[in-house]
Amino acid sequence: MKATDIAAPDYFHKVVDCQWACPAHTPVPEYIRLIAAGRYSDAYMINWRSNVFPGILGRTCDRPCEPACRRVRVEDEPVAICRLKRVAADYKDDVTRRMPQPAAVKNGKRIALIGAGPASLTVARDLAPLGYTCVVYDGDKRAGGMMRSQIPKFRLPDSVIDEETGFVLNLGVEFRAGTRVESMAALLAEDYDIVVVGSGAPRGRDLDIPGRKEAAGNIHIGIDWLSSVSFDHIHGIGKRVIVLGGGNTAMDCCRSARRLGGEDVKVVVRSGFDEMKASPWEKEDAAREGIPIHNFLVPKEFKHDGGKLTGVLFEKVKAEFDAKGRRKLVPSGEPDVLFECDDVLVAVGQENAFPWIERDAGIAFDDHGMPVVDKVTFQSSNPKVFFAGDAAFGPKNIIWAVAHGHEVAVSIDKLLHGEDIAQRPLPAVTVVNQKMGIHEWSYKNEVVLDERYAVPHQDNATALSSIKAEVELGFDAKLALAEAGRCLNCDVETVFSAPLCIECDACVDVCPMDSITFTENGDEEDLRGRLRAPALNLAQDIYVADGLKTGRIMAKDEDVCLHCGLCAERCPTGAWDMNKFYLEVTHAGPACR
Ligand SMILES: Cc1cc2nc3c(=O)[nH]c(=O)nc-3n(C[C@H](O)[C@H](O)[C@H](O)COP(=O)(O)OP(=O)(O)OC[C@H]3O[C@@H](n4cnc5c(N)ncnc54)[C@H](O)[C@@H]3O)c2cc1C
Ligand code: SF4
Ligand code: SF4
Repeated sequence: MKATDIAAPDYFHKVVDCQWACPAHTPVPEYIRLIAAGRYSDAYMINWRSNVFPGILGRTCDRPCEPACRRVRVEDEPVAICRLKRVAADYKDDVTRRMPQPAAVKNGKRIALIGAGPASLTVARDLAPLGYTCVVYDGDKRAGGMMRSQIPKFRLPDSVIDEETGFVLNLGVEFRAGTRVESMAALLAEDYDIVVVGSGAPRGRDLDIPGRKEAAGNIHIGIDWLSSVSFDHIHGIGKRVIVLGGGNTAMDCCRSARRLGGEDVKVVVRSGFDEMKASPWEKEDAAREGIPIHNFLVPKEFKHDGGKLTGVLFEKVKAEFDAKGRRKLVPSGEPDVLFECDDVLVAVGQENAFPWIERDAGIAFDDHGMPVVDKVTFQSSNPKVFFAGDAAFGPKNIIWAVAHGHEVAVSIDKLLHGEDIAQRPLPAVTVVNQKMGIHEWSYKNEVVLDERYAVPHQDNATALSSIKAEVELGFDAKLALAEAGRCLNCDVETVFSAPLCIECDACVDVCPMDSITFTENGDEEDLRGRLRAPALNLAQDIYVADGLKTGRIMAKDEDVCLHCGLCAERCPTGAWDMNKFYLEVTHAGPACR
């Protein structure tokens, strides 16, 4: 195998599994160490630069970082990365003075942003301090997009949204609240240099089955119903409620219905429990609140009595797999099931809708009604128009919307400086030695054996008594410290220097994970099988260093390394070193040009 180029920015980045998996590449272990040190404001500011909404995401993030977390190679559960982020937000000091100031001098460029959701706000957050005039339009009166209109207040209080959208709007951003853009052509005719579409995926799918029209008065589209609840337009629901759908919207619907007077609330899903799209923790929260989930039932008919909904009839199905392992739901042959109910919430998916974009505005749309958007630059076929967040590629989540927003800001900054936006700059990387004394490191390298700490919850009676009472209470400082101690500091990397190595095997002997092997070189497949412990996870690299005196190579399996630094402590010549790797994605500004 070729020797590894550890200077390539992606090499160590991939080893920091959580940061690599986070769409916005938040430097997770760095902020977790700061939380452990009680430096909450510093931890908050690191997050704010990457993911812009630490308090919001610390409560709601879809957490793609957690399944990637290296801790699961030591025990079952990953570090509670998401909930630690909330700790930084909950315990920070007043950080207003640490925020960038509105630009003293404007650069003369005007950007229109449609929608005040996380995508547009991230673009504004990156561009406004650089002197761009950012004008954000939203049909709603308050900023936040679906974070405000969809996510129930018992998961995300308004005060947190106010604070974090406020940090962005206070950067000198003009917010045209309650102003829906009705015509893209009219907007393009104004004096904007760029238009960013961050209008989300606002249309909830419906179910076209018999009885739908007749019983319409008690059948509600889930996302519309949730926003009516959020905006205080709805305060009650029938006692017996059926929620159709298996995603996170369905979980928010059933839990909201429970709080608005639903006593017998059930979720009905066409798939099996394990295949449901809802995140496991959302399903757990619904279960904790006594909401049953019924599986393998396909809605067939809304039953009604003279237009008054009385129940839903379901066909029972089962999963069958074809030769290619693809799953199909087929009738099970069992009798249909009727669930009686007073109201139904339909939460079977969302779609984009752009009725306000004229089809002759120079923006190409595909056969599914989606804009044609470049996956790297986010530019549409009209060079002045960019799409971000759910509007770009369909419904996803907040952290993806944020990640898109950063990239759009880079594209705009480059474009308006006359540069090729396809040429994206590499991230900034620093690598710093962590040695303080012979056996002392600047980070805690002892692997604690604690299992994941549960986030305390409000008791059910209090939680269910109000639609606004926050259910999760968050870690206190003591629990946060204990949970932070579970992080393995995967950003502290093992760096090997072959010229210093005398091949004494001391590191090989001391490594608790059998990560290190000195051996003859070979091709990757052969080498993976010949390591001290066969390296079976092909997604994780083998770190190869040549130049040893015996002509052998050092091969280290990055998959199992715990970053404990015992190799570097034991090595008599200092051939192993522990270096802190810090990667910062390039944001809009001089660094991206
Ligand atoms: C019920 C529900 C729960 C969710 N829970 C989570 C969660 O827990 N975690 C998570 O990460 N994600 C969650 N999501 C998804 C998340 O909210 C979205 O992916 C994210 O908000 C998308 O951000 P965005 O900026 O693209 O658009 P949005 O947040 O949708 O914002 C778009 C904004 O544009 C405005 N707008 C639209 N058209 C116009 C127009 N023509 N003129 C002016 N304004 C306009 C809208 O009013 C809206 O405010 C949830 C979604 C739903 C439906
Ligand atoms: S152990 Fe810590 S640094 Fe490593 S992946 Fe998990 S959270 Fe990230
Ligand atoms: S840091 Fe060194 S001793 Fe510790 S697990 Fe990794 S290779 Fe082994």
